[in-house]
Amino acid sequence: MNSVAPNFNISSHNAFLELFPIPFFLMKWGVDEMFSQDNLFFNTVLKRDFSYLEKHLFNNNTLGNELKSALQEFYTTGTPEKLEIVLYDDNLSIKVLCMALSKFMFEGAEMIFVNVIDISAYEKFQVHSSKLISEVKDLEHELRSSKLLIDKYIPISSTDLDGTIVECNEAFCNLTGYESGELIGKKHSLLKDRATVPSVYEDFWKVITNNQTYIGELKNRKKDGTPFWIKTRVHPKYAKDGTKVGYIALREDITNRKNLEEEVFIDSLTKVFKRDKFNDFLAKEIAEFHRYSKVSSLILCDIDHFKNVNDKYGHLVGDEILIDVTNEIKNSLRESDVLARWGGEEFIVLLPNTSEKNALNVANKIVKSIAEKRFNTVENITLSCGVSEVSPNDTLNIWFKRVDDALYHAKDTGRNRAVYM
Ligand code: GH3
Ligand code: MG
Ligand code: MG
Repeated sequence: MNSVAPNFNISSHNAFLELFPIPFFLMKWGVDEMFSQDNLFFNTVLKRDFSYLEKHLFNNNTLGNELKSALQEFYTTGTPEKLEIVLYDDNLSIKVLCMALSKFMFEGAEMIFVNVIDISAYEKFQVHSSKLISEVKDLEHELRSSKLLIDKYIPISSTDLDGTIVECNEAFCNLTGYESGELIGKKHSLLKDRATVPSVYEDFWKVITNNQTYIGELKNRKKDGTPFWIKTRVHPKYAKDGTKVGYIALREDITNRKNLEEEVFIDSLTKVFKRDKFNDFLAKEIAEFHRYSKVSSLILCDIDHFKNVNDKYGHLVGDEILIDVTNEIKNSLRESDVLARWGGEEFIVLLPNTSEKNALNVANKIVKSIAEKRFNTVENITLSCGVSEVSPNDTLNIWFKRVDDALYHAKDTGRNRAVYM
C-alpha cells in the first residue's frame, strides 16, 4: 500500500466539503485504519439519505467487508470507476447503490471521492422493462408462429372495395390452385361457379356494402375447373383513419361436408333434393303458415305412361328423360321454389309465398313446356300435375294427400293437365 503521509485532518475541511449538495463520502487512503471515523468524511446529504451505508462501512459484516474490498480494489487497480453495491437499508429493503469513484491528491494526501446514487428504482425499472421486452418477444414469436399456421391452413384474401384481390395467403393459393401472382389484381369473381344463382351474390354485396359481416356457403371453382365449397366470412377492412378500404375474407373448405350432404340429400340422377330433405322444407313451411299465415302451394308432377317409355326404349333412355324433364321443370320455376324428386317419375315443387291460383299457372306452364319439348329418341312426353295451397289445420300428410288427390284427378280426366284441389 502507498505510504503517503497524510498530515491533515479531514474534519478541518468540513465547512468547505459541506458546500457540495450531492451525497458523497471521502476517504483518506494509505493510512492505518482507513475505515475509521478519522479517515472518512460523510457529508450531511449522504448521512441523511444513506445512513445505512455509513453503518455498513463501519461494521465487519459481510456487506461491509464486500464494500471495503471493492474500494480497496479500486484504489489498487483504478477500476472499475463505478461500483454497484447491493445493501439493505434500515427497513431491510434491498438498495442498489451506484458509486462513482475518483482518486485525487489533496494537500499531500491520497483521497478517494465517492459519489453515491440510489439506483434501486432504476434497477427495478430495468428488471421490469427487460421482463416486458422478453414478454413482447415471446408474444411476437407466438404471433409469428400463429401467422405461419394461419397462412398454411386458413385461406385468407383481401380485396379493395370493388372486389379486386390485393392480397392472398398460401392456404388460399393451395385451395384455389392459383399462384398469388395470378390472383392479385384480378376480380374475386374469377373463382365464382357460373351455376350459382345471381341472387346469392346480390345478397353478398348487399351485406358487405352495408358494412356488415357476410357469412355464407359458396361454391367456387379452382384454376383447373374443379368445384369446391367454402364457408366464408367477409369483413369490411378499415384504414387507420377509419375509412373503409376493402374487405377481408376468411374461409373454411367445406367440400367434403357438402359432398356428403349431397349424397344424403340430393338425388344422384336428377341432382335435385330427395324426398326426405324436401319434407324438412315442407315442415318448415307449414310452421311458418301457422305462425305468420304465410301462404304457399305444392305441385306434384307425374310423367304420363312412363312405364311404356321404359318398356319400349329401355331404362337408360328413361333415365335420360328423367334428367331432361327435371331441367324443363326447373326452367318454369323461380329461385325461391324448391324442387325434389318425390319418387320414380314423380316430382314435387314447393312454391313459397304463392297462392293456389298462381301455382296452377306455374303447373300449366310446366305441363305445356313438357308437352312441347322434343326429347331425344322418344319425341313426345306428357306429364300431369296436382296443385294445392296450404290451409288451416293442415299437417304435412293432409296437405300432401290433397295434392296427390288433385294429381289423381288430373290423371283420371285425361292426363297432360294440371288440376287443383
Ligand atoms: P301414369 O300415367 O299412370 O303415371 O303411368 P306410368 O306408367 O307413368 O305409371 P307407373 O306408376 O305405372 O309407372 C312408373 C314407371 O316409372 C315405372 C318405372 O319403370 C319407371 N321408373 C321409376 N323410376 C325410374 C328410374 O329411375 N328410371 C327409369 N328409367 N324409370 C323409372
Ligand atoms: Mg307415378
Ligand atoms: Mg307416371
